[in-house]
Amino acid sequence: MRATIALAGNPNSGKTTLFNELTGARQHVGNYPGITVEKKQGVHLTNGHKLNIVDLPGTYSLTAYSLEEVVARQFLINEKPRAVINIIDASNLERNLYLTLQFMELGIPVCVALNMMDVATKRGIRIDTEKLSDVLQIPIIPTIARTGEGKTLLMDAVVELASETAKVPSLEISYGEDIDRAITEIESEVKAAGLFDGQYPARWIGLKYLENDDHVRDLCRETAPDLARKFDMIADRLSKHIEATFNSYPEAVIADHRYGYIKSILKQNIVTLEFDRTRFHVSDAIDRVVTSRFIGPLIMAAVIYGLYHVTFAYSEIPVGWLESVFGGLHTLVNNILPDGLLKSMIISGVIDGVGGVLGFVPLIMFMFFGISFLEDTGYLARVAFMLDRLFRAFGLHGSSVMPFIVSGGIAGGCAVPGVMAARTLRSPKERLATLLTAPFMNCGAKLPVFALLVAAFFADYASTVMFLLTVVAWTGALLVARLLRSSVIKGESTPFVMELPPYRLPTLKGLLIHTWERTWQYIRKAGTVILGISILLWAAMTFPNLPASKILFFEKQRSAILAAATTSARAELEANTGNLSGDGRTLKSKLGLIDEAQAEAALRNSVAGRIGTGLEGISRWAGFDWRTNIALVGGFAAKEVIVSTLGTAYSMGDIDPEKSGALSERLGSAPGWNLWTAVSMMVFIIFYAPCFVTVVCISREAGSWKWGAFSMIFNSTLAFTLAVAVYQIGTRLTGTGG
Ligand code: GDP
Ligand code: MG
Repeated sequence: MRATIALAGNPNSGKTTLFNELTGARQHVGNYPGITVEKKQGVHLTNGHKLNIVDLPGTYSLTAYSLEEVVARQFLINEKPRAVINIIDASNLERNLYLTLQFMELGIPVCVALNMMDVATKRGIRIDTEKLSDVLQIPIIPTIARTGEGKTLLMDAVVELASETAKVPSLEISYGEDIDRAITEIESEVKAAGLFDGQYPARWIGLKYLENDDHVRDLCRETAPDLARKFDMIADRLSKHIEATFNSYPEAVIADHRYGYIKSILKQNIVTLEFDRTRFHVSDAIDRVVTSRFIGPLIMAAVIYGLYHVTFAYSEIPVGWLESVFGGLHTLVNNILPDGLLKSMIISGVIDGVGGVLGFVPLIMFMFFGISFLEDTGYLARVAFMLDRLFRAFGLHGSSVMPFIVSGGIAGGCAVPGVMAARTLRSPKERLATLLTAPFMNCGAKLPVFALLVAAFFADYASTVMFLLTVVAWTGALLVARLLRSSVIKGESTPFVMELPPYRLPTLKGLLIHTWERTWQYIRKAGTVILGISILLWAAMTFPNLPASKILFFEKQRSAILAAATTSARAELEANTGNLSGDGRTLKSKLGLIDEAQAEAALRNSVAGRIGTGLEGISRWAGFDWRTNIALVGGFAAKEVIVSTLGTAYSMGDIDPEKSGALSERLGSAPGWNLWTAVSMMVFIIFYAPCFVTVVCISREAGSWKWGAFSMIFNSTLAFTLAVAVYQIGTRLTGTGG
């Protein structure tokens, strides 16, 4: 038999571990069409059956609140896998079964892998799996993914389930009289109209409609607008009724009933605690210290500082290696290719541009390793928990913490999934405020720019400066949120509940996999999108070339210098020994100056150069020269481009191969750059317009292009104001003018 099997479960339930156990090295990673969520597939062979296992994103539910949930659900509905392996954390049964019920409501054959049995046993939780399986009417196999225990039994059950041809009836839970009646009303309309062709169970459509599920609502509105109006009326009536009678809303009541259903099942002696309920768990003991009001934040600061420290300390050497590799490539191509456009493109556009971005791979990798460690141990959830109190004070919500962290709140994320993660926020106003402020975080693309500037100007204080940049980003984001929530998006805040997963010691294998997944995304982006933009920008920095009269002017100067030189020195120069003496050396440096002046004039004359020079009038206030302007404008396409463009701009400016050292060295000694230019630029980069893709996402998520435009204009204005303030005050205080 060949069949597709989906693997689904809550985040942290051991999905990745089980997936690796089942598929070994036979894996394939791609993306879901059109979005950044990764799609992992692998093949599992058992008793002559070939099972294609698809690792769905980790979700708590199957409503269309988060991108992960939408992706998981669309996969189940559109690709119709033969069965779902639902992996469950046995030590947190109640919460995990919530998702299981939703598979059953959707009428999908599901087999439960009751994972973390070792943890459950250690905590004295005993689960009667046979009885649970009887009550739920689905196979349930205890497993320990970490050791692979139970996987054979699990796969036997899966094969059996996948071979069954009879359709699985979908589970029908009662949600109370009012909701049930409304569901039935919609259900019968859907059935009567023959909507969706049986692709979705009719009752499920009714349920999701009442759960305020955007996807299902849009779907109905598109396929049957008249019916959708009717459904809207039913949903509206129900909302009002529930508001009046329970002072609640349908989604909440539905969730309550689902949990009620689970509780009533578990109460039938399925779960017994062998130890006293009040037993002191290790996790609780740790939490008492780690999340305490005063020590908690200190520990958090220390952890983040430690992360930067370790990252910079250990990545310095491999970053150096990569830099010399790209430096070597630069020299090699310079020596073998004939002068001309092709050489210029390969050196300036490709090697110095993309090389600048790829050079930071070791740093990014160390950073991601640290983040994966914090995430896998469960510490990141504590960070979210602690920051919840703080967030409320600024008009945000506890659920805003995750979008912030995903966007790069600690280091190296991406605002695109960050903005998507804001879907978990129920209140539209808190959500909007989160959407607009999450891009201030220091995403993985801003990191290389910071690392570059830090290496050039603050090499001795790298981790401190990085830590401060994080503090600045968070403080800025919170203050802006406060500002927005008391002006353009005023409104109430909503309550928040969060569960803390137990602490776990991560495995090295798991950490390496998570680190590599993230690093690979970074590399892939540099090799594709960034390469394209880098070449485009190189073209913008090359064309149009200098007018003939200008070139003639430089040629004349060159011949004048040569003519003035003594014949002996000229002979020496033409022999090009590189070891000139006396007259020869001054001659060479004079000629070098001419070449440099010509290269600079050419760059200035190009499209990009004109834009950069045009902006210089105002950007000078913040200390940015025209080359920096090119990089910052290019950074709007993608922030990685800032580094690659600086690489290109500074490599086109000097043609002396002896000077083609690391970009950070070049910046450190470049005229017009000083410490305050670097600080001002870092501040500007934290706050200015999000990259293009993020702006598109913000517009889409906020439901209007106006908010996308708002974030570009507002952020850039704010960033520029701050950068000017920092630069002007800084240079005055220390007397280093730029
Ligand atoms: P995912 O988020 O669902 O992909 O979860 P992972 O596979 O990354 O697992 C989260 C953590 O739980 C990792 O540190 C795993 O090593 C650990 N883990 C997974 N399965 C088990 C298990 O059965 N027992 C124990 N003790 N730990 C497990
Ligand atoms: Mg995982």
